[in-house]
Order: sequence, then structure tokens, then C-alpha cells
Amino acid sequence: MHRKVHGLTESDLISVPCSLCGSILSATEHRRGLFQYRRCSHCRFVFLSPRPTQEKLVECYQRYLPDENEDVEAWGRMMKVIFGRAATQADRHAAGRPGDLLDVGTAHGFFLDVMRARGWRVKGLEIAKKAIEAARAKGHEVREGTLEGNPFPPASFDVVSAFYVVEHVFDPVGFLGRIHALLRPGGLAIIRWPHTAPLVRFLMTLREDLDLYDPPWHLSQFEPATIALAMKRAGFRDIRTSVGGWTLPAGRVGRAISATGGMLAETWERLSGRSFPGVSKTTTGVKGAPAV
Ligand SMILES: [Zn+2]
Repeated sequence: MHRKVHGLTESDLISVPCSLCGSILSATEHRRGLFQYRRCSHCRFVFLSPRPTQEKLVECYQRYLPDENEDVEAWGRMMKVIFGRAATQADRHAAGRPGDLLDVGTAHGFFLDVMRARGWRVKGLEIAKKAIEAARAKGHEVREGTLEGNPFPPASFDVVSAFYVVEHVFDPVGFLGRIHALLRPGGLAIIRWPHTAPLVRFLMTLREDLDLYDPPWHLSQFEPATIALAMKRAGFRDIRTSVGGWTLPAGRVGRAISATGGMLAETWERLSGRSFPGVSKTTTGVKGAPAV
């Protein structure tokens, strides 16, 4: 199942410096058509450059609006283990006192379901309209938009989660910084991301047409060291990365679930069988208490 990005030409693409450290020195890690993944010579971060402009990318995403309910349900079932592990991390961090949780890119609100059942006060943020409707139909408070729109007051959550969003955003440090700002002191960020690079290096030796890097949807290819660097630069401490559960592919399906809910590429990878269990990681970070 190969997605073509229709209508993108070289003039729609821009070259960018390293999103983590700003260095302009990088080497080609992987090349696919118009796209290149570059590895920063300074901090080793792998990022898409050239890439579509932000405006162009949003335009591309609109062509992937979800419409298959079965796929949505299948995805929710597959993510059950991962959501369960993340919920346990949140509960443990809160020492058994459920608080306020925000799920960024909440799609159909599956993680909100899990956390609400555990007594948390939950809110979601999403930009795919159909997904928002579905989550609201379950009684969830879901805002339409992105973190750039400052949809919530600072320091208003105890946990902020984002499943498969950070690899899609233009400025990952800025994105994580906004999550940091939304957390109360001592609050926990739970960031789920696809750890594609090592798998690609292995599989490329078997099949050269395989492209798990998924340009242009994945703008960043994180590894444990670079996600830790991004979290640190955003202000987090006690940064930990774990596998955090895994999912089984459930056969091929035609459409993605949440176009811009941050789960698009992961969904495609999972449901199309193009990805494999265990490639993703969960990274947590804590917002330090303010200096006295
Ligand atoms: Zn760098």
C-alpha cells in the first residue's frame, strides 16, 4: 500500500536546518523521490529536508480524511495495550489521585475513554473534524485545533499525552515546550513515537522498495537519544523511554483514521501490515517544580 503525495512539486518544498539544535550541517540518511531524510552532523537527529511547507502539508492532510468506522474500531482495539500501559504510568505518577489530563491529537478519544474510566478529568485536542465528532459523541470535551492556538491556560493539567503526534509536527521542541507549559509543576508528559530507524536499516537490506520512513508525513525520525534531547530542550527532566506495549497488525485497510490526529502514519503502518510490533516507544518527562 503505497501513498503518493499528489500534486507536490519541488517548488512546494523547503530545506530546513536541524529542528533540535539548529545546525545546518547534515548528511543524507535516506532518499525517496523528492524527499530526503538528513542526519544532523551535530546532534544526530534525523529529519525530513526538503519538506513541504507547513501550509502545503496541511493541504495534503485534508485528502486523507477518515471515513471507515470499522478501521477506527480496529485501531482502537490494537492500541488497547499501549493505552493501558500509558494509563498505568499516569496513575502511578499521580500516586492514585486522578487529576486533569489532556490528550493531544486524541482522534476518536480512545485514550480519553480509558482515563475517564479510571477517574481522570479528561480533555482532548484534535484537528480532524470527523474524529472530533466521534469523541464528542462519547461525551468528551474535545477542542478543535493545535497547541499553537493556545487552546488551554498554562499549568492546567497533571498529565498531557500525545500518541504519534511529535513525529508530524514542524517544530518538535516547540511542540514539547507547549506541552511543558500546559503541565502543572510535577506534571507528566507521555509521548508515543514510532522508532523506525533501526528497523528500516535492517529491512532495507532485504527489500529496497520498502519505505517505513513515510515521507512527507513523518517530519522527524526520533531515536531514544534524540527524543531525550528534544524533551530536555523543552524543559523536561526525569526523561525515560520504554517500549510501552506493542500492537499486532490487523490486516489491510483502505483509509486512515485520523488525518491530522497524529495517528495517520502509525495507523497506516499498523493496519496495512507495513509495520511490525514493537517499533514504537513511549517517552515520559516530568515538569520540574518552579525555583523558590
Ligand atoms: Zn542537530
